[in-house]
Amino acid sequence: MTLLSVRDLTVHHGQLRAVDGLSLDLGKGEVLAIIGANGAGKSTLLRALAGLNPPTSGSVHFGGRDITRLPAYKRVGAGIALVPEGRRLFRSLTVEENLLAGAYRRRPGAWTLPAVYELFPWMADRRTQNAAQLSGGEQQSVAIGRALLANPALLLIDELSLGLAPVIVRRIYEVLPGIVGTGTTALLVEQDVSQAMRVADRVHCLLEGRSVLQGRPADLTAEQVEHAYFGMG
Ligand code: ATP
Repeated sequence: MTLLSVRDLTVHHGQLRAVDGLSLDLGKGEVLAIIGANGAGKSTLLRALAGLNPPTSGSVHFGGRDITRLPAYKRVGAGIALVPEGRRLFRSLTVEENLLAGAYRRRPGAWTLPAVYELFPWMADRRTQNAAQLSGGEQQSVAIGRALLANPALLLIDELSLGLAPVIVRRIYEVLPGIVGTGTTALLVEQDVSQAMRVADRVHCLLEGRSVLQGRPADLTAEQVEHAYFGMG
Protein backbone atom coordinates (compact mmCIF):
# COMPACT_ATOMS: atom_id res chain seq x y z
CA MET A 1 0.00 0.00 0.00
CA THR A 2 1.31 3.44 -0.93
CA LEU A 3 1.73 5.71 2.08
CA LEU A 4 3.37 8.69 0.45
CA SER A 5 3.08 9.82 -3.11
CA VAL A 6 5.04 12.82 -4.35
CA ARG A 7 4.35 14.12 -7.86
CA ASP A 8 6.37 16.68 -9.83
CA LEU A 9 7.34 18.49 -6.68
CA THR A 10 9.23 21.73 -7.14
CA VAL A 11 10.51 23.80 -4.21
CA HIS A 12 12.35 27.08 -4.61
CA HIS A 13 14.70 28.98 -2.35
CA GLY A 14 14.32 32.39 -3.95
CA GLN A 15 15.27 31.92 -7.61
CA LEU A 16 16.93 28.56 -6.99
CA ARG A 17 15.01 25.37 -7.79
CA ALA A 18 16.27 23.27 -4.87
CA VAL A 19 13.80 20.45 -5.69
CA ASP A 20 12.95 20.23 -9.37
CA GLY A 21 9.95 18.22 -10.52
CA LEU A 22 10.62 15.30 -8.22
CA SER A 23 8.33 12.27 -7.97
CA LEU A 24 8.56 9.37 -5.58
CA ASP A 25 6.36 6.75 -3.94
CA LEU A 26 6.85 5.19 -0.57
CA GLY A 27 5.06 2.03 0.51
CA LYS A 28 3.89 1.41 4.07
CA GLY A 29 6.64 -0.22 6.13
CA GLU A 30 9.38 0.63 3.64
CA VAL A 31 12.74 2.27 4.34
CA LEU A 32 13.64 4.75 1.61
CA ALA A 33 17.04 6.44 1.63
CA ILE A 34 17.72 9.67 -0.20
CA ILE A 35 21.34 10.06 -1.25
CA GLY A 36 23.10 12.78 -3.20
CA ALA A 37 25.93 15.27 -3.01
CA ASN A 38 25.91 18.46 -0.93
CA GLY A 39 23.29 20.86 -2.21
CA ALA A 40 21.38 18.19 -4.19
CA GLY A 41 18.15 19.19 -2.43
CA LYS A 42 17.80 16.37 0.10
CA SER A 43 17.09 18.56 3.13
CA THR A 44 14.75 20.77 1.15
CA LEU A 45 12.76 17.70 0.08
CA LEU A 46 12.43 16.48 3.68
CA ARG A 47 11.50 19.92 4.92
CA ALA A 48 8.89 20.18 2.18
CA LEU A 49 7.41 16.84 3.24
CA ALA A 50 7.27 18.12 6.82
CA GLY A 51 5.51 21.27 5.62
CA LEU A 52 8.42 23.61 6.42
CA ASN A 53 9.36 24.55 2.83
CA PRO A 54 6.20 25.19 0.82
CA PRO A 55 6.33 23.81 -2.73
CA THR A 56 6.02 26.02 -5.78
CA SER A 57 4.21 23.29 -7.69
CA GLY A 58 3.44 19.59 -7.61
CA SER A 59 1.58 17.53 -5.04
CA VAL A 60 2.09 15.42 -1.94
CA HIS A 61 -0.42 12.76 -0.96
CA PHE A 62 -0.14 11.00 2.37
CA GLY A 63 -2.38 8.10 3.27
CA GLY A 64 -4.49 8.97 0.23
CA ARG A 65 -5.02 12.56 1.39
CA ASP A 66 -3.72 15.64 -0.41
CA ILE A 67 -1.47 17.38 2.12
CA THR A 68 0.36 19.63 -0.36
CA ARG A 69 -0.82 22.79 1.43
CA LEU A 70 -1.21 21.40 4.95
CA PRO A 71 0.78 23.48 7.47
CA ALA A 72 3.65 21.81 9.33
CA TYR A 73 1.97 21.69 12.74
CA LYS A 74 -0.98 19.79 11.29
CA ARG A 75 1.28 17.23 9.63
CA VAL A 76 2.48 15.94 13.00
CA GLY A 77 -1.13 15.20 13.92
CA ALA A 78 -1.57 13.61 10.49
CA GLY A 79 1.34 11.23 11.26
CA ILE A 80 4.51 12.80 9.86
CA ALA A 81 7.44 13.44 12.20
CA LEU A 82 10.75 15.04 11.21
CA VAL A 83 14.12 14.52 12.88
CA PRO A 84 15.75 17.69 11.56
CA GLU A 85 19.33 18.23 10.52
CA GLY A 86 21.33 19.29 13.54
CA ARG A 87 18.92 17.57 15.94
CA ARG A 88 17.45 20.80 17.37
CA LEU A 89 17.00 19.65 20.95
CA PHE A 90 16.16 22.10 23.72
CA ARG A 91 19.64 22.27 25.21
CA SER A 92 18.62 23.55 28.63
CA LEU A 93 15.95 20.90 29.07
CA THR A 94 16.60 17.37 30.29
CA VAL A 95 16.63 14.26 28.13
CA GLU A 96 13.17 13.32 29.38
CA GLU A 97 11.73 16.79 28.87
CA ASN A 98 13.03 16.74 25.32
CA LEU A 99 11.45 13.35 24.69
CA LEU A 100 8.12 14.51 26.10
CA ALA A 101 8.15 17.51 23.75
CA GLY A 102 7.40 14.91 21.06
CA ALA A 103 4.31 13.74 22.90
CA TYR A 104 2.66 17.08 22.18
CA ARG A 105 0.07 16.40 19.44
CA ARG A 106 0.73 12.73 19.97
CA ARG A 107 -1.26 10.18 18.02
CA PRO A 108 -2.36 6.99 19.75
CA GLY A 109 0.08 4.14 19.24
CA ALA A 110 2.77 1.86 20.58
CA TRP A 111 5.38 4.51 21.31
CA THR A 112 5.45 5.59 24.94
CA LEU A 113 8.25 6.86 27.14
CA PRO A 114 8.97 3.33 28.51
CA ALA A 115 9.05 1.96 24.96
CA VAL A 116 11.61 4.57 23.92
CA TYR A 117 13.69 3.77 27.01
CA GLU A 118 13.56 0.11 26.07
CA LEU A 119 14.90 1.00 22.63
CA PHE A 120 17.70 3.19 24.02
CA PRO A 121 18.32 1.99 27.61
CA TRP A 122 21.02 4.61 28.31
CA MET A 123 18.41 7.35 28.03
CA ALA A 124 16.55 6.10 31.08
CA ASP A 125 19.75 6.30 33.14
CA ARG A 126 20.44 9.82 31.93
CA ARG A 127 16.92 11.15 31.77
CA THR A 128 17.56 14.05 34.19
CA GLN A 129 20.68 15.27 32.37
CA ASN A 130 20.57 18.37 30.24
CA ALA A 131 20.58 17.73 26.51
CA ALA A 132 23.57 20.07 26.21
CA GLN A 133 25.68 17.43 27.99
CA LEU A 134 25.00 14.75 25.38
CA SER A 135 27.27 13.84 22.49
CA GLY A 136 26.04 14.49 18.95
CA GLY A 137 25.01 10.87 18.50
CA GLU A 138 23.16 10.79 21.80
CA GLN A 139 21.33 13.95 20.79
CA GLN A 140 20.41 12.34 17.47
CA SER A 141 19.04 9.32 19.36
CA VAL A 142 16.97 11.59 21.64
CA ALA A 143 15.68 13.43 18.58
CA ILE A 144 14.58 10.07 17.12
CA GLY A 145 12.95 9.11 20.44
CA ARG A 146 11.16 12.45 20.52
CA ALA A 147 9.85 11.92 16.99
CA LEU A 148 8.69 8.37 17.85
CA LEU A 149 6.65 9.64 20.80
CA ALA A 150 4.38 11.36 18.30
CA ASN A 151 3.65 7.83 16.98
CA PRO A 152 4.30 8.81 13.39
CA ALA A 153 3.23 6.74 10.43
CA LEU A 154 6.11 8.38 8.54
CA LEU A 155 9.43 9.18 10.16
CA LEU A 156 11.66 11.61 8.25
CA ILE A 157 15.31 11.63 9.37
CA ASP A 158 17.66 14.21 7.93
CA GLU A 159 21.42 13.55 7.72
CA LEU A 160 21.17 10.47 9.88
CA SER A 161 24.84 9.71 10.35
CA LEU A 162 26.48 13.06 9.59
CA GLY A 163 29.24 13.78 12.07
CA LEU A 164 28.27 11.00 14.46
CA ALA A 165 30.48 8.37 16.07
CA PRO A 166 30.22 5.07 14.12
CA VAL A 167 29.18 3.15 17.24
CA ILE A 168 26.10 5.37 17.68
CA VAL A 169 25.24 5.20 13.98
CA ARG A 170 25.42 1.42 14.23
CA ARG A 171 23.09 1.43 17.22
CA ILE A 172 20.58 3.69 15.46
CA TYR A 173 20.60 1.37 12.44
CA GLU A 174 20.25 -1.65 14.71
CA VAL A 175 17.01 -0.28 16.15
CA LEU A 176 15.61 0.84 12.79
CA PRO A 177 14.05 -2.54 11.91
CA GLY A 178 12.29 -2.52 15.30
CA ILE A 179 10.91 0.93 14.55
CA VAL A 180 9.76 -0.02 11.07
CA GLY A 181 8.35 -3.26 12.50
CA THR A 182 5.85 -1.25 14.56
CA GLY A 183 4.29 0.03 11.34
CA THR A 184 6.34 3.20 10.97
CA THR A 185 7.67 3.96 7.50
CA ALA A 186 11.05 5.69 7.26
CA LEU A 187 12.46 8.17 4.79
CA LEU A 188 16.11 8.91 5.53
CA VAL A 189 18.62 11.31 4.14
CA GLU A 190 21.91 9.47 4.41
CA GLN A 191 25.28 11.01 3.68
CA ASP A 192 27.00 7.67 3.75
CA VAL A 193 26.07 5.93 0.49
CA SER A 194 27.24 2.44 1.49
CA GLN A 195 25.27 2.71 4.73
CA ALA A 196 22.19 3.76 2.75
CA MET A 197 22.62 0.78 0.42
CA ARG A 198 22.79 -1.58 3.40
CA VAL A 199 19.71 -0.40 5.27
CA ALA A 200 17.27 0.84 2.67
CA ASP A 201 14.64 -1.13 0.77
CA ARG A 202 14.99 1.48 -1.96
CA VAL A 203 17.19 4.47 -2.63
CA HIS A 204 16.70 7.64 -4.66
CA CYS A 205 19.76 9.57 -5.76
CA LEU A 206 19.19 13.30 -6.11
CA LEU A 207 21.17 15.58 -8.39
CA GLU A 208 20.33 19.27 -8.63
CA GLY A 209 16.89 18.67 -7.19
CA ARG A 210 15.96 15.80 -9.50
CA SER A 211 15.77 12.09 -8.81
CA VAL A 212 18.32 10.73 -11.31
CA LEU A 213 18.45 7.13 -10.12
CA GLN A 214 16.20 4.98 -8.03
CA GLY A 215 15.82 1.33 -7.21
CA ARG A 216 16.49 -1.47 -4.80
CA PRO A 217 20.12 -1.55 -3.65
CA ALA A 218 20.55 -5.09 -4.96
CA ASP A 219 19.49 -3.95 -8.44
CA LEU A 220 21.91 -1.01 -8.64
CA THR A 221 25.58 -1.27 -9.49
CA ALA A 222 28.22 0.78 -7.71
CA GLU A 223 29.03 2.38 -11.06
CA GLN A 224 25.42 3.47 -11.64
CA VAL A 225 25.27 5.00 -8.18
CA GLU A 226 28.58 6.77 -8.60
CA HIS A 227 27.55 8.20 -11.97
CA ALA A 228 24.21 9.41 -10.60
CA TYR A 229 25.81 10.89 -7.50
CA PHE A 230 28.37 12.91 -9.39
CA GLY A 231 26.17 13.63 -12.41
CA MET A 232 28.41 11.88 -14.92
CA GLY A 233 26.54 11.29 -18.15
P1 ATP B 1 23.46 19.29 2.20
O1 ATP B 1 23.90 17.88 2.29
O2 ATP B 1 24.58 20.25 1.91
O3 ATP B 1 22.54 19.73 3.29
P2 ATP B 1 21.15 18.95 0.54
O4 ATP B 1 21.16 17.93 -0.52
O5 ATP B 1 20.39 18.65 1.77
O6 ATP B 1 22.63 19.36 0.86
P3 ATP B 1 19.67 21.38 0.47
O7 ATP B 1 20.13 21.76 1.83
O8 ATP B 1 18.26 20.96 0.30
O9 ATP B 1 20.60 20.26 -0.13
O10 ATP B 1 19.99 22.58 -0.52
C1 ATP B 1 19.65 22.57 -1.89
C2 ATP B 1 20.05 23.90 -2.48
O11 ATP B 1 19.25 24.94 -1.90
C3 ATP B 1 21.49 24.28 -2.21
O12 ATP B 1 21.99 24.94 -3.35
C4 ATP B 1 21.41 25.24 -1.04
O13 ATP B 1 22.47 26.17 -1.07
C5 ATP B 1 20.07 25.92 -1.27
N1 ATP B 1 19.41 26.30 -0.01
C6 ATP B 1 19.09 25.49 1.01
N2 ATP B 1 18.45 26.15 1.99
C7 ATP B 1 18.35 27.43 1.57
C8 ATP B 1 17.80 28.62 2.13
N3 ATP B 1 17.18 28.60 3.31
N4 ATP B 1 17.90 29.76 1.41
C9 ATP B 1 18.50 29.77 0.21
N5 ATP B 1 19.05 28.69 -0.38
C10 ATP B 1 18.99 27.54 0.28
